[in-house]
Amino acid sequence: MDFELSEDQCAFRDTAREFAQREFAPHAARWDAEGIFPLEALHHAGELGFCGLYALEAHGGLGLPRLDASIVFEELAAACPSTTAYLTIHNMATWMVTRFARPEVAAEWGPRLASGELLASYCLTEPGAGSDAASLATRARREGEHYVLDGAKAFISGAGATDVLVVMARTGEAGPKGISAFLVAADSPGIEYGKKEHKMGWNSQPTRSITFDCVRVPAAQLLGEEGEGFAIAMKGLDGGRINIATCSVGAAQGALNAALAYVHERHQFGRPLADFQALQFKLADMATELVAARQMVRLAASRLDAGAADATLYCAMAKRLATDLGFSICNEALQIHGGYGYIREYPLERYLRDARVHQILEGTNEIMRVIIARRMLAEHTMETPR
Ligand SMILES: Cc1cc2nc3c(=O)[nH]c(=O)nc-3n(C[C@H](O)[C@H](O)[C@H](O)COP(=O)(O)OP(=O)(O)OC[C@H]3O[C@@H](n4cnc5c(N)ncnc54)[C@H](O)[C@@H]3O)c2cc1C
Repeated sequence: MDFELSEDQCAFRDTAREFAQREFAPHAARWDAEGIFPLEALHHAGELGFCGLYALEAHGGLGLPRLDASIVFEELAAACPSTTAYLTIHNMATWMVTRFARPEVAAEWGPRLASGELLASYCLTEPGAGSDAASLATRARREGEHYVLDGAKAFISGAGATDVLVVMARTGEAGPKGISAFLVAADSPGIEYGKKEHKMGWNSQPTRSITFDCVRVPAAQLLGEEGEGFAIAMKGLDGGRINIATCSVGAAQGALNAALAYVHERHQFGRPLADFQALQFKLADMATELVAARQMVRLAASRLDAGAADATLYCAMAKRLATDLGFSICNEALQIHGGYGYIREYPLERYLRDARVHQILEGTNEIMRVIIARRMLAEHTMETPR
């Protein structure tokens, strides 16, 4: 067991930190306030390989382990959790294309996605199917060399501004085994986008509903085989949950850094805030919880990298723990800033608003508990991972 970062991992971290401080940090507040989706910054991220961090090398990705990708995402999220969270969704969809598309389809789309030339959305949730995603109702029927898609998706990150949709749709029976996954060009005839949702946070990326009305998709753009779509979507989400957990760790680190600077700057009762033991204890707890969350995320990433049978369990645990702790650390950092934490001149309220949704999406934290409990109860044990 080695808790040290390798030389390569340190280099990724330093490159990501330098990029984030240059390209994200100076603009994040404006992107949030004005609802700007920063395409140029995302394209610059692509130039460094950040749009295909763990996508397959054969199709343009860097092919990094999830652990290394998490180290990069954490640095980016410390500067702008919202933009980074979108970038992680793009990475998830790009990995799904490079991993499960037919070779000619992966060769056509993979490199353009991995380079950031094209951006992707992941389309699972529907108006009537959120936590119970396996009940989704969007249909795909085969017609010759095409599938024809009809239905609706809700809450799709990036929708309306992305080029590729990875869409889960029903080709067969009710339940998870009747679902297939497709790569769909986002400008296909019959696709319509809803209004941009007004959200509490994640304002540097659009969220929209999508409707599909007789949308024709080449049959070759099926990912995997018919009926494998739900399993593919869940494989994507194992990594996605590590990514979202990482965005919470990054946001918490950004908030803690701000709080640590502030307690030295701000004086009350003739002393810096740093002199008050109540705040020292708060900072100590925040730092301890941050390290615990980060280590849990890295453990889950290494279980996924190892192809461990219990990787899904650890991804769910990491997502639950890191997003809950990350939100609470952001909240404590806001509290340490007093009234200034609540106003937009400081980044705390933005970190808090951005981190809140991490407890809801890519499976709510209640659903993470369902996954964890179900497995433990089925196996009558919770063993130390080997
Ligand atoms: C900003 C944003 C971006 C998103 N981006 C995407 C995206 O890009 N692609 C995508 O496919 N989806 C996306 N989503 C959707 C997101 O994944 C869902 O909102 C989430 O899975 C929850 O589904 P729901 O909103 O329908 O809530 P529901 O499933 O209706 O849940 C409501 C409440 O009931 C609880 N609950 C439900 N079932 C159970 C149970 N069995 N046990 C205990 N509690 C339960 C939930 O935890 C929750 O608290 C996004 C959502 C948001 C808000």
